[in-house]
Amino acid sequence: MNKLVSIVIPAYNEADNIFIVVESIKNVFSALNYDYEIILIDDGSADNTLQTIRDFASSSDNIFFLEFSKNFGHQLAVKAGMDNAYGDCVISMDCDMQHPPELIPDMLNKWEDGFEVVYTVREEDKNLSKGKRKSSGLFYKILNWLSDIELEPGAADFRLLDKKVVNVFRNFNENEPFLRGLVKWLGFKQHAIKYNPGIRFSGNSKYTFKKMFRLALHGVTSFSIKPLYSAVYLGFILSFASILYVPYIIYAFVNNVEVSGWASVIMTIVFFGGLQLIILGIIGIYVGKMFMQVKNRPNYIIRSTNIPVR
Ligand code: UDP
Ligand code: MG
Repeated sequence: MNKLVSIVIPAYNEADNIFIVVESIKNVFSALNYDYEIILIDDGSADNTLQTIRDFASSSDNIFFLEFSKNFGHQLAVKAGMDNAYGDCVISMDCDMQHPPELIPDMLNKWEDGFEVVYTVREEDKNLSKGKRKSSGLFYKILNWLSDIELEPGAADFRLLDKKVVNVFRNFNENEPFLRGLVKWLGFKQHAIKYNPGIRFSGNSKYTFKKMFRLALHGVTSFSIKPLYSAVYLGFILSFASILYVPYIIYAFVNNVEVSGWASVIMTIVFFGGLQLIILGIIGIYVGKMFMQVKNRPNYIIRSTNIPVR
């Protein structure tokens, strides 16, 4: 009997992309000796996505859908797909052709070689300016240093997970999972494949700069408490520096030196005011995360599905 591969595809306003994505996956599998199922997750789309997916699902017995009750976000949509996938391995990919289905055979080969996680890394985009590439590299360096996990620049949410790994994931109950980091953190035998991202087939990216920044901040704060330690160290350094300044103040006082300093006083107040707010904010993020998690609400809500209970 052939092994079953589950393909998990989150879709948020992707009505125009679903056809080509599904067809190209069908195409890839027609040349492979695997059974496959496609699980499409409608993440609260406002367009025709759900209807399109339903049509596909009703015309074929290996296409399934999950309808969320509202938009819960990309990461949770992937998680929901994995929770409901039945395959011997699960491949997650985007619904916009930026994750080339032609890579699937390579991923499966690596899986057959014994790798339990086969993830993909975007090849450096030659179209980007040098400055942009440098700053993106720096960004990942800082992220890695702050978060205790090693993320490769360009790591994508296009990956294959063995059933063993998926089962581990099912027991995760983080209300805002950062899958890229979690997968790295899990361990197992991992292999990276480089790929060239295409351009989006239709529509626009749903990841705005704001969302990216949030994801980065979230990535750091869900993996370590290093930022809290940094705050303590920074506090020590600044306190020590201020002690060094004391002799000068005494000297100025004793010798009646007139110190003019409106500008420097204001600068100091503003600078340290900002610094304190940042550190307070960092503590706040951790407290907020605890609050959200402690409530123990379901992470996502499924409104309807055609996946049989199995
Ligand atoms: N997506 C989702 N929910 C969201 C945002 C995005 O399910 O709230 C899906 C989207 O339909 C796509 C994938 O996540 O299949 C990646 O989104 P996008 O292409 O916008 O991100 P980018 O490729 O620009 O990083
Ligand atoms: Mg995309």
